Amino acid sequence: MTTSFTVNGRNYSPRNCPVVGICLDGSADDYLDAAMVRGRLPNLQRMAVAGWRGLARAQMPTFTNVNNTSIVTGAPPCVHGVGGNYFFDTSVGAEVMTNSASFLRADTIFPAAQLAGRRVAVVTAKDKLRDIFAAGLIERGGIAFSSERVKDAEVATHGIARVEDLVGPGPYIYSGEASVYVLKAGVALLESGLADFLYLSTTDFMQHTYPPEAEESLDFYAALDEQIGHLLRLGAIVGVTADHGMNAKQRPDGTPNVTYLESVLEQQFEAGFRVILPITDPHLVHHGALGSFAQVHLPPGSALAVDEVIEWVRSLPGVTEALDRETAARLMELPPDRMGDFVVCSGRDAVLGRTPEWHDLSQLKVGLRSHGGRYEEMVPLLFSAPLVSEYASRAKGDPRNFDLFDYLCNGIQPCTSPV
Ligand SMILES: [Zn+2]
Repeated sequence: MTTSFTVNGRNYSPRNCPVVGICLDGSADDYLDAAMVRGRLPNLQRMAVAGWRGLARAQMPTFTNVNNTSIVTGAPPCVHGVGGNYFFDTSVGAEVMTNSASFLRADTIFPAAQLAGRRVAVVTAKDKLRDIFAAGLIERGGIAFSSERVKDAEVATHGIARVEDLVGPGPYIYSGEASVYVLKAGVALLESGLADFLYLSTTDFMQHTYPPEAEESLDFYAALDEQIGHLLRLGAIVGVTADHGMNAKQRPDGTPNVTYLESVLEQQFEAGFRVILPITDPHLVHHGALGSFAQVHLPPGSALAVDEVIEWVRSLPGVTEALDRETAARLMELPPDRMGDFVVCSGRDAVLGRTPEWHDLSQLKVGLRSHGGRYEEMVPLLFSAPLVSEYASRAKGDPRNFDLFDYLCNGIQPCTSPV
């Protein structure tokens, strides 16, 4: 019997069948559509018909760490503290990556689920997320590992060892298999009885590389769908969402459509601006650190009026939004102490950079596809069984991707056999 548990003010009452939450990193709804209309996603299609398929709003800025942390805490960044993959920590005067649980200001739902009697396992493709997902979990008997560093898994630190014996040889991180492996691991953990409450989080290498209709994308989503089919056959209630969408950020000639904010600000005003691109992470091959969102710090001690600078930035090509810190923190639910003086968003086909020298575009093997702004905000939301009426109404309103486990635990109709 599972008892209910409460985390960050939300109550969770999961049913006594396996519960699997999946974050398909970088899955704009276009990817599901392209594969579904070609008949490549029979299991997700059955979920859409027998359960629920709609859209949910992701958390701004639409980056991986921000949204994964929101999903696992069931709360926005003003609560959990992770408002970017990367930020300028003014308390120590350094730019830091938010890839450690030390940045968390709230608990994830996993230790509480484990204490409530569930066997919790969390599998991520990118190892950078593992520490956040594992916070408080391993010492309570849960499991957390990444497909990127599957060989590192030890009982003391990951709650499991010899993962390759269970799932198969670990994949190369810059591949579709890095993500498919995450779902295969979920199937193996469920089948072996090692877990019955899972969060599976993939990587967006494929979406950064290929558009939805590319053969590579169709094959990739078909492989993910096959694993989702196994989870369903094992009796799991499955919920699927994404951390953000993905769009081509190019000019018609195929070159990256970049506004180098630090360069143009210093040209227009004065030296010393610091532009923080919160997409920055160890996986630059994906995106060249170019995304559609930036935090801007005025030069230290500057007498410039922030409103005047913001007004000028709004006139730049590609820029769709520029907001002062307080306004952005309120509208985007961000932690103000981890922000710049103002934030900037760019459009569907445009990204923001620091200076031309700072970005190594030779790392981009194909055209630039990226995310971070409003145009990557709406993401898929699917459930394998019908929703109770209250949640069905809410799902037609403004559901958030970080409501995933709320829906999975509280919103699924009882006595419905999963798809
Ligand atoms: Zn992502």
